[in-house]
Amino acid sequence: MPIDLVISDLDGTILETEDYHRRAYNALFRELNLSREWSEEDYKARLATMGGAKFDEILKWLSQPVENHGETCSKLYARKTDLYVDLVVDALEREELALRPGVKSLFKEVIGSGVGLAVGSACVKWAAEKVLEASLGEELVASLETVCAGDDVEAKKPDPEVYLLVAQRCGVEPRNCFVIEDTRHGMEAAHNAGMRCLVTPSKLAKGDVFQGAAGELESLEGIGVQDLHVFWENY
Ligand SMILES: [Mg+2]
Repeated sequence: MPIDLVISDLDGTILETEDYHRRAYNALFRELNLSREWSEEDYKARLATMGGAKFDEILKWLSQPVENHGETCSKLYARKTDLYVDLVVDALEREELALRPGVKSLFKEVIGSGVGLAVGSACVKWAAEKVLEASLGEELVASLETVCAGDDVEAKKPDPEVYLLVAQRCGVEPRNCFVIEDTRHGMEAAHNAGMRCLVTPSKLAKGDVFQGAAGELESLEGIGVQDLHVFWENY
């Protein structure tokens, strides 16, 4: 069975972006005059829960009437996303943040070999596209088969919806897709979609157990298409 499509996650897999989400929340708190700040430990504890629960906590601090929660939450999330993108793009320009090792050369090789490449992310679509362009460059982004993001789907990873949507949009069978992920819930999303998954744990996922992964690598440095085929066939 061949690999028809390689699907990469974005946050943590292509770039170590998680801390920029934390910094964006802290920037939001400053804008709201909330004397709060999430440390790395605070944020890691909250990562176990999805976006919505973090905003429930913030809404409590703001003492907003319950009837306004939906609207306030949407506004805060939009503003946090703006702040996040600004922070990431700025860090990329200053070279404080870079692609994880091996990502760009593997992606170029995948495209060059005729295997499709796509992205499946929980991030907001416009933000994902902007971060991808700022990090991978417009030319590589234009070569992607598709970018499916958080606002394209109802359910977040480990639900398989985003990966199944990528496969559907690209007209390939899920079983012929090879996912690259950095976390366990991301890997589970791939497995729940019936896809094999190669894991390169991000800083926050170091030490997690990736049972069932087709491979676990410290990074994609030195990894080419041929290596992907080896992991695929040995699975
Ligand atoms: Mg990730």
